[in-house]
Amino acid sequence: MDKQTSDFYFWGAGYLLLVCAILTLTTSKTADVQIQIAPKIVKPLLCFNIEVSELRTSDTESGCIAPEESLGTAPITYSEISPTKLDRTFEVRFLAAQAAAKAVGFNIQITSGFRSQQLQEQLFNNAVKKYGSENEASKWVLPKEVSNHPRGLAIDVNYPGDRTAVRWLEENGATFGICRIYENEWWHFEPVIAPGEPCPPMMANALESLPPAKTK
Ligand SMILES: [Zn+2]
Repeated sequence: MDKQTSDFYFWGAGYLLLVCAILTLTTSKTADVQIQIAPKIVKPLLCFNIEVSELRTSDTESGCIAPEESLGTAPITYSEISPTKLDRTFEVRFLAAQAAAKAVGFNIQITSGFRSQQLQEQLFNNAVKKYGSENEASKWVLPKEVSNHPRGLAIDVNYPGDRTAVRWLEENGATFGICRIYENEWWHFEPVIAPGEPCPPMMANALESLPPAKTK
């Protein structure tokens, strides 16, 4: 082999090695990126068909198909818009829970859901008379400005009736995004979590849910 030919092979092999190295690096880099994107977490979405009382797990991409309605994937919180009825997603959560309760022999009904500002004010004033102070009254009935009943985000279930059935909701409500909130009110529930998340620890009473400045 003359010098020219051996140079040709030497540089040719070197060039090939370089191309291989670049290719390997590029490919593994692409693979790394793909690994980062690949485990896409799709939050399961619960869809309830009211017509046939059927609960189905969908994914957020295909969503619920009418007449199914979504139970939502987040806590349902207060908005600035004053509602005139119970929040619809919260209602769908309750209807789904009610159907599941019925299937195992428990009857749960909303006995007080949405309340007008006037009704809440009247209930609060009555409670002040009954308990002797606004502070004591707030442990049972909140003023209209802070209660979640006029916001369409609170329900009283089976009150003052069948408490046993309500225990089912207390134990299983989290699946549907419904939680008991207060230790002193077995009947009061709110949609404070995403369906399937654990409920937060209960507060002793409604007074604890008020910002400190508002308690007196
Ligand atoms: Zn209540």
